[in-house]
Amino acid sequence: MQPKQLIDKLETTSRLTKEEWIDLIENRNDDTAQYLFAKARNWQQKYFGNRIYTRGLIEFTNYCKNDCFYCGIRRSSQSAKRYRLTKEQIMECCETGYKLGFRTFVLQGGEDGWFTQQKLEEIVHAIKRSYPDCAITLSLGERSKESYQGLYEAGADRYLLRHETADSTHYQSLHPKELSAKHRQQCLWDLKEIGYQTGTGFMVGSPGQTAAHLAQDMLFIRELQPHMVGIGPFVPHHDTPFAKESGGTVELTLFMIGLLRIMLPELLLPATTALGTIDPQGREQGILAGANVVMPNLSPSSVRAKYQLYDNKICTGDEAAECRMCLNRRMESIGYQLVVDRGDSPIKMRC
Ligand code: SAH
Repeated sequence: MQPKQLIDKLETTSRLTKEEWIDLIENRNDDTAQYLFAKARNWQQKYFGNRIYTRGLIEFTNYCKNDCFYCGIRRSSQSAKRYRLTKEQIMECCETGYKLGFRTFVLQGGEDGWFTQQKLEEIVHAIKRSYPDCAITLSLGERSKESYQGLYEAGADRYLLRHETADSTHYQSLHPKELSAKHRQQCLWDLKEIGYQTGTGFMVGSPGQTAAHLAQDMLFIRELQPHMVGIGPFVPHHDTPFAKESGGTVELTLFMIGLLRIMLPELLLPATTALGTIDPQGREQGILAGANVVMPNLSPSSVRAKYQLYDNKICTGDEAAECRMCLNRRMESIGYQLVVDRGDSPIKMRC
C-alpha cells in the first residue's frame, strides 16, 4: 500500500500490522506528512478544539540510582551538580504555579531513595490538601506496585513512565543490565490497573533505533491504551556514553506525533521541551502535528540548569511566569490557547 493509504487505514481501523508500520515509517515523505498532520489536527480539534493543556513541571531531585546510557543525570555522571528540593520549596513551586493558572503539577525526578515512600506520600498529600482542584502527576521511575498504590491513595492522579523502547534488545543497548524492558512495561500495566491516568512514551532517534523498533513502539502503545504519550527526540548529553551519537530529528518526531494522534485520537500528547530544544519552533510544530499539551518548567530557577537530561535544554534561565507567558504567545501565534484546566484525559472522564 502507498503511505497515504496506510494512513487512511490507520485512521479508520486504528491498527496496522508491524510490516505496515515499517512500510509507512520508511516510505514517508513531506507530502505524506502534510496529509497526516491535516488529519491529526482534525482529530485534535474534535476532542480538544484550540485548547492546549498545560502542566507545571517540578523537577524535584536530580539524584538517580540508575545509569541509563543516554541520560545526563545518570548515576555515574560526574558533571551533574546534584540537588534536592525541600517539601517547602516544592510547595512554593505549586503556589507560584497555581497563581499562574496551572491546574496540574508534575513531580519528576531521578530514582532517589532519599525520598522515601513516606516522604513522597506526605508531599503528595500536602499538595492535594492545598490544591484540591489540581491534578498531581508523578514521574519517579520504576517502583513496586505497592508503592504506586500508596502514592495513588495519597492523592496522585497520574503517572508518567516512558517505556523508552518496546524492543527488549534495543532497550538493553540503552540501559545497564539490571534494567529491563519487561519490568518497565510491567510497571505500566500495574499503574493502569491501580487507576492512574497513565502516560508512556519513547525517544525518537535514540542510538540504534530502526523503523522496526518504532513499529513495535506503536504496537505496544496500541495494546497498552495509555491516556498520555510523551515523545521527544533523543538529544545527546556530553557526559554520557552516547555523547558522540547523533540526535533524533524534528521531522521524524513530528511524524510520530501525527501517527499517535490518529491511532488513538483522544490521547494527551505533549509537544515536549526536547522538541523545543532542537528547533526554536519545535513546540509549535508539535501542536500543528497533533499534540495538545505543553509542560513548562516550574522548578526554581536556581536549580533549573542542574536538571540537565540532555545538552542545551531550553528555558533554564527563565522564571515560571516568563515561561507561561512565552508559551501563551507561542500558542496564540498558531491559533491555539493555553487554558486554566486540569486537562484530564477524555477517556478517563468517561469511565
Ligand atoms: N526517572 C524518571 C524520569 C526520567 S526523565 C523515569 O525513569 O521515568 C524523563 C524522560 O526524559 C525519560 O523517560 C527519557 O525518555 C527522557 N530523556 C532522558 N535523557 C534524554 C536525552 N538524552 N534525550 C532526550 N530525552 C531524554
